[in-house]
Amino acid sequence: MEFRIARIDLREWKAREEKIPESLLRKYLGGRGLGAYLALKEIPPKIDPLSPENKIYILTGPLTGTGAFQSGRYHVVGKSPLTGILGDSNSGGQFGPWLRFSGYDGLVIEGASDEPVWISIVDGEIEFHPAKRLWGKGVIHTERVIRAEMKTPSEYVGSVLAIGPAGENLSKIAAIMNDRYRAAGRTGLAAVLGAKKLKAIFVKGSRKVEIADMKKFLEESKKLTKKIMEHPISEALGKYGTAVLVNIINSHGAFPTKNWTRGTFEKAFEISGEYLAEKYLVTNKGCWGCAIRCARVSKVDTGPYRTPVSEGPEYETIWAFGANTLIGNLEALIKINYLANDLGFDTISLGNTMSTLMELYEKAKKGELPEEKAKELMELLGDIEPTWGNAEAFIQAVWRTAYRHGIGDIMAEGAARLAEYFGSPDSAIHVKGLELPAYDPRGINSMALAYATANRGGCHLRSYAVSFDVLGAPKKYDPLAIDMEKVELVKYQQDYFSVIDSLVVCKFNTFATDHTDYVGVLQAVTGWEDLTADELLEIGERIYNVERLFAVREGHGYKDYLPKRLLETPLPDGPAAGKTAKEALEAYLPKYYELRGWEDGKPKPETLKRLGLDEFLYIVS
Ligand code: SF4
Repeated sequence: MEFRIARIDLREWKAREEKIPESLLRKYLGGRGLGAYLALKEIPPKIDPLSPENKIYILTGPLTGTGAFQSGRYHVVGKSPLTGILGDSNSGGQFGPWLRFSGYDGLVIEGASDEPVWISIVDGEIEFHPAKRLWGKGVIHTERVIRAEMKTPSEYVGSVLAIGPAGENLSKIAAIMNDRYRAAGRTGLAAVLGAKKLKAIFVKGSRKVEIADMKKFLEESKKLTKKIMEHPISEALGKYGTAVLVNIINSHGAFPTKNWTRGTFEKAFEISGEYLAEKYLVTNKGCWGCAIRCARVSKVDTGPYRTPVSEGPEYETIWAFGANTLIGNLEALIKINYLANDLGFDTISLGNTMSTLMELYEKAKKGELPEEKAKELMELLGDIEPTWGNAEAFIQAVWRTAYRHGIGDIMAEGAARLAEYFGSPDSAIHVKGLELPAYDPRGINSMALAYATANRGGCHLRSYAVSFDVLGAPKKYDPLAIDMEKVELVKYQQDYFSVIDSLVVCKFNTFATDHTDYVGVLQAVTGWEDLTADELLEIGERIYNVERLFAVREGHGYKDYLPKRLLETPLPDGPAAGKTAKEALEAYLPKYYELRGWEDGKPKPETLKRLGLDEFLYIVS
């Protein structure tokens, strides 16, 4: 299998082609795995993530753009300015396949430009364009201008990846956006592009993605598509989008509310996928190569939250902007989502940062912050009054965060730094600096282990334990019971999801599939006829260990923990009332380390040898 990357040197505005050896692909596949390996090899230890020494890897995988079901995605990897450890994020839409069609399977962005620049890649030709007039502009405007310049108006031909003002202004919670509304959001890698002064990348081309055995590919691909499409969760995703989860998670008492102080939100139905479908849905939409079409296209016609036709909001956004700030007005959430996309934010991190601000404001009013800090907070807020449920204050705060005005200058650093700055570090709910997503581990106890051990910080997409604790896939467990079988499932998902992110395909198929389902289709594409299911899962385990090694080498981020509030303060309401996440984490973590072959969060030398990672033994010895 051939895998061509372009190394783009922004200092010189030059690019050169490089081929990735097939032996490396066999160990890491592509996407997240290849990115993690290259980052560990090439990014010097302990550098400032916003310095020119950091690199950004924008990578497809062996299945991207092949026509295999849900293969319209790409993965971004680099050192995170938010967490200081390895950051990565995945996005759908059209960009991944069009990058491959443009002639390259991946891009490595190196150095930093002296002035704003955007890049076009068309049929292997890489050109650099001054981007001064795009600097400061939103993602939607940027896409429009670039498409006009490239004479490619159709959103289905070619693709634009861009950062918004949030990334330009080095916000650590900024998202890399593509196709206007799709986000590689987590871990703030857009700030790294901002520091490099890279505003956007346009890709288009007619290269055919190589498939070693087309007949076998068509057969295997058909089987896989049928299995995924027939699963009931795929059907629900198509009908109501990811926001179908609002009522489900709320009914389990695990819907974090009022900055993680409650587990249920009384206005959950009014911000649910069902309500969205009834009132604001224009149509649904899919990523390239996917018939599930889980994306929502929505609009608000009138009133203060009037919003043009645009994509979203997704479940995580609805929760982070809604229940966690007590905003129960879906029209306001659609508006804030639109703004957050255009300005280029990770909506999970932004929502958590806003709910942290609301808590800090409440504490300042009650005299629970250090006096000097309370005074400074009030001064920085100016005319913003971030009371619970105040959508207007949220909108103002989003603008100010994007351009770092007043309180926005500190909000742009993310929830953990905001709370720390104002002397109340426990007001930010994060793991390793990454704000947590929409599942309270006090009500879904496998998520305690999933969050604590996620390599990029608090994240639901390394292991989505909700799948078995709540949704019954592959089988239903009691979300409140301590059950050691669940430790094996979390580890399994972490390894399998590493494979999924490296192939690169959509994780929403993992309700229906396991790693054995991808062997045939990968053999057909790559020609690796001797590839086995065990080998594929071992690749996932290898990737998980490489990511962990990055943290070990940095000297932080490998200790697995949960925020104090989730460990010590019981939920006051709902089916999980009285529960904390402490018992589950203490029960699960030792078993998890035993299964992983880790000690205190670090891979043991024998584990690295077993996984063929001898070249990194120096990190743990
Ligand atoms: S299920 Fe949704 S997110 Fe996944 S590929 Fe399909 S449309 Fe995209």
